[in-house]
Amino acid sequence: MSTATTFTFEQIFNAAPDVQAIAPGRVNLLGEHTDYNDGFVLPTAIPQHTTVCLGTSSDDQFHIYSHDLEEQVNFSSRDPIPQGFSRYVIGCIRAIEEQGIVIPPLNIFVTSSVPIGSGLSSSAALEVAMLRALRSLLNLKIDDVQIAQLGQYAERTFAGVQCGIMDQMASSLADSEHLLFLDTRTLDRELLPFPEGSTFLVIDSGIPRTLAGSGYNQRRSECEEAARLLGVPALRDVQDVSAIAALPSPLQERARHVITENNRVLEARLGVSAQRFGQLMNASHASLRDDYDVSVEGLDLLVAILQETPGVLGARLTGAGFGGACVALIDSNAELKNAIQAVLDRYHNAGYTGKILVDRT
Ligand code: ADP
Ligand code: MG
Repeated sequence: MSTATTFTFEQIFNAAPDVQAIAPGRVNLLGEHTDYNDGFVLPTAIPQHTTVCLGTSSDDQFHIYSHDLEEQVNFSSRDPIPQGFSRYVIGCIRAIEEQGIVIPPLNIFVTSSVPIGSGLSSSAALEVAMLRALRSLLNLKIDDVQIAQLGQYAERTFAGVQCGIMDQMASSLADSEHLLFLDTRTLDRELLPFPEGSTFLVIDSGIPRTLAGSGYNQRRSECEEAARLLGVPALRDVQDVSAIAALPSPLQERARHVITENNRVLEARLGVSAQRFGQLMNASHASLRDDYDVSVEGLDLLVAILQETPGVLGARLTGAGFGGACVALIDSNAELKNAIQAVLDRYHNAGYTGKILVDRT
């Protein structure tokens, strides 16, 4: 158990924790807006992670403390689930309790190096770390896929976020040295090496994802409608864009993004060169911008600056869009410190406030 975290748990709860677990955040390299279409994704775990420490509570309440938010919530099983960050934690407790397992009142300490609310999935990292800690404390017989499923259930049911399964699967099953190819319909998966000679960088655009919620829900229903008109269970079931020629606009554009994006992931899975992988990321961004209409000016600018930078093999927005972060594939042999600073300077000079979230160069 890391002494630093134990120390802070003790400062809050005046006792040592019984267990500690960690789980990473994630970034998606390819396969955007495909997961709710039963499609394919290609995320990797990032080095930043969330830590959850648990100990039994000395009264009949759960005490949940977030070191990052400097906020404590006291919760008794009879209470309605509160708003705010503790929903994610209590959601995981409820998800386990619904399996018929009794959980004693606990002291719960959360601390994280995953940027919160930046599209690197701090929410899934919190759920997976919490479920791993419960598994270890109560000796639960649940595997890593079930952990991901319980985390997704918790987020959907108790935090009210209609998320797909990618974030929790990535946090539970990916590592930061590999890409996780995931078929979100069958949950078939495979850890793949990064394209030879490449690594990645994530930059926050500084643009808040204000429209992300409503835009996301609208895209979801457009995809459902497109699948219904095509007579397939989900857009994943269409591989050929000629099949969508009769769809009205903008359903045709939305479907074209999903189909071509799935095909890009399937091509990348075959083990393409770093250069080709970069081209697939550039094509993904163009498709998200032109067909899926989820980019904004600032993201397009940051992506364009990255794409023009020597040593950058490809770049695109990552996450739902409407703001948030960009991911770039980088030549791991290139010396890019100055070039990356120049990217940020150009972006800042255009009036934006971007910053590096993950630097694996
Ligand atoms: P993302 O998952 O992209 O970071 P979300 O909006 O899905 O963004 O999830 C962020 C929410 O998850 C936070 O607002 C908070 O409620 C919860 N959360 C995540 N990490 C922590 C943490 N370390 N401490 C407290 N709450 C957290
Ligand atoms: Mg999230």
